[in-house]
Amino acid sequence: MRRGNLFIVSGPSGAGKGTLVALLLSAVPDAWLSVSATTRAPRPGEVEGESYYFLDRDDFMAMAEAGELLEWAEYSGNCYGTPLASVKRAMGEGKQVILEIEVQGAFQVREKIPEAKLIFIEPPSLEELERRLRNRGTEDEETIRQRLQAARVELSSKEEYDIQLVNDNLSEALAQLTAYINGQAEETRG
Ligand code: 5GP
Repeated sequence: MRRGNLFIVSGPSGAGKGTLVALLLSAVPDAWLSVSATTRAPRPGEVEGESYYFLDRDDFMAMAEAGELLEWAEYSGNCYGTPLASVKRAMGEGKQVILEIEVQGAFQVREKIPEAKLIFIEPPSLEELERRLRNRGTEDEETIRQRLQAARVELSSKEEYDIQLVNDNLSEALAQLTAYINGQAEETRG
């Protein structure tokens, strides 16, 4: 069996990455989403081992120091990282592996795995992003302020990605994302 492809999906919090990736998993049967480790506290409804592996800082750092993370980064005061073993396994099984991670991590992965494809999901505008973050109602004012600042920084890296998709209309953005992944995956399937 051929090795699967590695796709990184980044974009500011509130750009709709999570929704798009969830829909993508239904649209592309051999897509596989990596579950990250984080030191962030669970939000209501998040499930250990499905949303994230929720760790304290000591356990997270122990994983990082043991070389068990493909990449890791600090974002808005918390650590986030991709467990290496499960990504390797899924690629070995020929899956289209999806990492939903922020930009510093994306560039670390590109260093290690140059054939990884980097996909940037953009909100239609910063105003729309702010509106979506507020509507989500899961973050306090200080967190929203931090995330908008982080969004400005992330948007400044978008040109370094292989492809940029504007999530204005969800079904159009999904169609573009699916077409891109299927296009890249074609060679390695079957
Ligand atoms: P949230 O706290 O909203 O779930 O995630 C915050 C940011 O961390 C998002 O941009 C998300 O894509 C990113 N993120 C999630 N998991 C990882 C990871 O394993 N590594 C890195 N570098 N970023 C991650």
